Amino acid sequence: MKYVSTRGSAPALGFADVLLAGLADDGGLYVPDTWPQLSPGTIAGFAGQPYAVAAHDVIAPFVAGEIAEADLRRMCNEAYATFRHRATAPLVEIGPGAWVLELFHGPTLAFKDFAMQLLARLMDHVLARRNERITLLAATSGDTGGAAVEAFAGRSNIDLFVLFPEGRVSPFQQRQMTTTGAANVHALAVKGTFDDCQAMVKAAFNSRDIRRRLAITGVNSINWARIVAQVVYYFTAAVALGAPRVPIAFSVPTGNFGDVFAGYVAKRMGLPLAKLIVATNVNDILARTLATGRYETRGVHATTSPSMDIQVSSNFERLLFEACGRDAATVRRLMAELGTSGSFAIDPVPLAAIREDFAGGMADETEVAATMAETVRETGFLPDPHTAIGIAVGQRFRQPGTPLVALATAHPAKFAAAVEAATGRTPPLPEGFAHLMSGKETLTVIASDQRSFEDYLLSHAGAVKNEV
Ligand SMILES: *Cc1c(COP(=O)(O)O)cnc(C)c1O
Repeated sequence: MKYVSTRGSAPALGFADVLLAGLADDGGLYVPDTWPQLSPGTIAGFAGQPYAVAAHDVIAPFVAGEIAEADLRRMCNEAYATFRHRATAPLVEIGPGAWVLELFHGPTLAFKDFAMQLLARLMDHVLARRNERITLLAATSGDTGGAAVEAFAGRSNIDLFVLFPEGRVSPFQQRQMTTTGAANVHALAVKGTFDDCQAMVKAAFNSRDIRRRLAITGVNSINWARIVAQVVYYFTAAVALGAPRVPIAFSVPTGNFGDVFAGYVAKRMGLPLAKLIVATNVNDILARTLATGRYETRGVHATTSPSMDIQVSSNFERLLFEACGRDAATVRRLMAELGTSGSFAIDPVPLAAIREDFAGGMADETEVAATMAETVRETGFLPDPHTAIGIAVGQRFRQPGTPLVALATAHPAKFAAAVEAATGRTPPLPEGFAHLMSGKETLTVIASDQRSFEDYLLSHAGAVKNEV
C-alpha cells in the first residue's frame, strides 16, 4: 500500500517511510491511496477475539508488504500486554443503549497509550532493520509527553527529547516523564510556557543545521501510525454491541481530530456506523465548523480538559481531503487561506459530505462539571472532564435503537482536582502507580532559548552526523 499527501506534491511513500516522516515534506498529511475493505464476515469474527488479534487484523492491510505478519502480531501482543485490564478496552453500560468505552487502562492512564505503545515498537523495528537511529522531539503540556516517554523508554534505536514547561505540569505528569531511568529519554524542563516549548521544537524542525546533522521526527497525532492504531477499538466496541448487523454511534472528546478520524477510517473500511459525534470543550473550532461551514481559529482558553485545548485541529485536513474528493489543489488553497487569514469556508458539496458522517457540539465548563456529578450519581461511573464532554454532547444526538458509545479518554485520577471539585469524590489512583511518586527523577532545566536547546540536543543525541 502507498500513502499520498493531502497537499499532493510530496512523493507517495510506503508505510515505513510514512511512519518515520510524520509530516509530508509539502506540509500535508499522509493518507492511504485506497481504503482497505473488511467483509461483514471478517468484522463479525472479531467478536470474542483478544484485542491484540483484532489489532493485527485491522492494521495488517495498512502495513502489507512492509512489515512481516509475524512481526506485526508480536508487536501488537507486546503493546497491548502493557494494559492493566484483561479486555484492554472494556465497555461499561451507563444507561439503556448508552455505553462508555474505557480507553484508560494503559501505562499512563490515557487513550494515547493505544497509539504510542504500538508506534514505539513499529519505529524501533523499522529502524533496526535499516540499521538507522532517529531522534524524536516532542513538546508537551503533560499527557502526550508521558505517553511517549512510557512507550519509547529503553528502545534501542531512538533518542527521545521531551520539552515541558517547568512547574506547569502536574507532579504526576512530570514524574511519568522523569522517573524511567532510561538513558535514551531526555526530559527537559523549560523555563517558559507550553507555547515556548512548542516554538522551540518547531524551530529545531525548521533549522537546516539541525536537519543536516540529525535525523529527527515527531510523535504528534499527525503521524499516520497513531491514527491506524486507534481504528481498532471502534471495530471491537461496535462488534461487541451487535455490529455489523446494527449501526453504532460514537461520541468522541476531540482536540486534534485524530481519534474521531480513526472512527471515520473504520467506517470507510466497512464498519457500519451511525453518526460520529465530535464533542469539544469551549475551544470549539470543530463544532463551529460543522454548524457553519467556516473553519475559523480563535484564541485558546484553558479548561479542565487541557488535552482538548487547541486552536487548530491538525487532522481535520485529512477529512477535508476526503470530503473534497481527494482534490489536493483545493486542500492547498484552503490551508494557504488559513495561514494568511486564520479561516476558510468549506463549499456546500464537501460540507454536506462531512455532515453525512459527523455531528458536533460543545460543552462548556458548567456543563462538564454538571455531567461529571450527574453521571456518577445516576450510573456509578465517574468520568474525567474529557470523558464528560463526550457523554454530554453524545446525549444530544441519541437515536432510539442505535447504541451510543462515548469514548472515555482519560482515567479520572489523572484529573483528580477537577473531578473532586465537581463531584466531591476523590478518584483513587489505580494500583501500580505508587512507585511513580517515590522514584528518582532525572531532568535537565533549560532556558527558553533556542541556542541552549539546540546545543543540548546536538551534544546528547546518539546519532549526530559528523560530516557537515
Ligand atoms: C489527546 C486527548 C484527546 C483528544 O484527542 P484528539 O485525537 O487530539 O482529538 C481527548 N482526551 C484526552 C484525555 C486526550 O489525551
